[in-house]
Amino acid sequence: MRRPVITGNWKMFKTRAAAREFFDALLPAIAGVDHCDIVVAPPFTALDAAVEAARGSRVAVAAQDLHWESEGAFTGEVSAPMLADAGCAYSIVGHSERRQLFGETDETVRRKIRALMDAGLSAIACVGETLEERESGEAEATVRGQLAGGLAELTGSGLSHIIVAYEPVWAIGTGRTATPDVAAAMHGVIRDAVAGRFGSAEAEALRILYGGSVKPGNIAELMAQPDIDGALVGGASLDAASFESIVRYPAP
Ligand code: PEP
Repeated sequence: MRRPVITGNWKMFKTRAAAREFFDALLPAIAGVDHCDIVVAPPFTALDAAVEAARGSRVAVAAQDLHWESEGAFTGEVSAPMLADAGCAYSIVGHSERRQLFGETDETVRRKIRALMDAGLSAIACVGETLEERESGEAEATVRGQLAGGLAELTGSGLSHIIVAYEPVWAIGTGRTATPDVAAAMHGVIRDAVAGRFGSAEAEALRILYGGSVKPGNIAELMAQPDIDGALVGGASLDAASFESIVRYPAP
């Protein structure tokens, strides 16, 4: 049985004070919730405030990105050991905004995953096709290629430190959510690709999140799909009440 994970990606939003306010509102509201893991990914500058605010709660803190080297002359970059030191348990890698705007490739995703493993952290590895790729029938090949490249160095035991997030680029920040059927079909493709590479037991244990305009109003139907193990939530994770509703997807 895979434990669901609801993850919030704040992108480039929230100061330290705003992060504290968010946790002050969220933590009492989810005090009794124990049906899923909860992860929040603030910007680097608010990691410390978020880790402090979330201490003792069931919310884990993630970074949104990292550099693959552990230290060096890489101005502006942050390494996996630094994220571990800051109290992070995860980092997102391969987000489509990093791929489209900042030159992230499957090769850099591979290196970043390795750096996270070496530092004892887990990766939330994003894959997903663009609208053009979907419309030209390339969606499955794109996602299979991203998985093959990004997970190239992993062994079966390393897979337990990976969560895959399927985020169709055309659904991110657009208000256009993949239908549960479309999302579930690609989750099946991802599980099949992982089974082919690592074995079916490993694929069955892998948690695969859906991301792309997830809101309180659509989380329940997405989570009703057996292959969808959680969500990576952007815009709707910025407001504590909205994120709480998403975390509470099975019951009011
Ligand atoms: C994301 O940032 O990963 C995301 C899915 O954003 P949104 O929920 O706003 O579409």
